[in-house]
Amino acid sequence: MPSAVSVKKLMRKINQQQMLSVTEAQSIILNQIKPLDANEDQEIINLDAANNRILATPVTSKLDFPHWDNSAMDGYAIRFADVQDCTPQKPAILEVVAEIPAGCNPQTAINTGEAARIFTGAIMPPGADTVVMQEKTKRQGNQVQILESPPQSQNFVRQQAAYYQAGNTLLSPGIALNAAEIAVLAAAQCTELAVYRRPRVAIFSTGDELVKPEQTLQPGQIVDSNQYALATLVRQWGGIPLLLGIVPDQPEKLKETIASALEEADFVLSTGGVSVGDYDYVEQILGELGGKILVQSVAVKPGKPLTFATFPNSIYFGIPGNPVSALVSCWRFVQPAFKKFSGLKGGWLPTFVKAQTKQELRASGKRETYLWGRVEIVNGGYEFILAYGGHSSGNLINLAQTNALAIVPVGETVIAEGIQVDVMLVS
Ligand code: AMP
Ligand code: MG
Repeated sequence: MPSAVSVKKLMRKINQQQMLSVTEAQSIILNQIKPLDANEDQEIINLDAANNRILATPVTSKLDFPHWDNSAMDGYAIRFADVQDCTPQKPAILEVVAEIPAGCNPQTAINTGEAARIFTGAIMPPGADTVVMQEKTKRQGNQVQILESPPQSQNFVRQQAAYYQAGNTLLSPGIALNAAEIAVLAAAQCTELAVYRRPRVAIFSTGDELVKPEQTLQPGQIVDSNQYALATLVRQWGGIPLLLGIVPDQPEKLKETIASALEEADFVLSTGGVSVGDYDYVEQILGELGGKILVQSVAVKPGKPLTFATFPNSIYFGIPGNPVSALVSCWRFVQPAFKKFSGLKGGWLPTFVKAQTKQELRASGKRETYLWGRVEIVNGGYEFILAYGGHSSGNLINLAQTNALAIVPVGETVIAEGIQVDVMLVS
């Protein structure tokens, strides 16, 4: 008489109906994710440490941008009314009464018939309303000839507050801080800011056959590459990886590890042990520890035996052990969940583009199939080049240097070369 669990496994194995579609699994997962709290889960950091962090509160500035009316050109600040109908033959001739380099605060007012020599970024002097670029002028002693009339008043003047008005929201919460945002914060003199704390992600690998990269391999053993792959992803996403190492296929050891991981981490990612093999205990233990198992199997290749469970304070992903399956599962399912949790306002899902496949793509038609390769831009359009060699989920080697996964939908067994396919970008 098989145990309750193995009956369940058997049922699942034979009952293909239980497999969720990729979109079903994605929406079940995303629906369960409650983002970090903007108040409780925030920390104050220095601008130097802001890269890749998620802003938790709105940022406003007391400064207008630009801070004052200033010149967009090297040239002459003049009064528009003084320079009508100018030609090289009939220039307006103005008296140069001041010189204003960037960084100085002009005091001399420009009256009718006068001009100030001005440089890019310098404050407009009182009285002047327009800048004539240097190339449209001719300087003679302390006079300047204006050889061409500017099209309108305010030409080449960057007006105070044209880009941003003090007191408005400068940056909104839920955005990722990268070079452009950090430049804006620096310009606004915002040197300390509130960001969401970095999610803590416990990672461990299961399997009696696994060893660390520095260990000598005995026959039958393989190196635990998943730990490295997942830790790298978590760092890229902005999380803190907590590396729990290799756990043997022993229910007690697994239970102990899972229980302590759940105490410490927001997310727990384990690889291996979620299939229907005799040594696959993860699901059973999640149930024993009170987890709500919401995904057990997804109609996706690679990555079918994905397990997703929720606990009161943690999210658990039981990820298939095959190295390619593990990465594809993370890119497709774990990353969106992580992004939503991290406080990001949107953009959780992977980026999909249409690309013309340069090779024929084959699949069984039973599961949504992800084939790895490279996307390149050729003549303004995307092309997908399938990775050379085997597309087994155990073949990690040809995953290197790829940047995309071409998708063969359920029901399709072959996509001919030259056809536009959906491609998911992964880097
Ligand atoms: P499992 O999901 O535990 O049945 O593992 C499926 C396959 O992936 C087996 O061939 C394992 O040896 C391999 N595998 C499992 N975990 C890892 C890992 N951490 N690194 C590399 N390969 C693994
Ligand atoms: Mg295993």
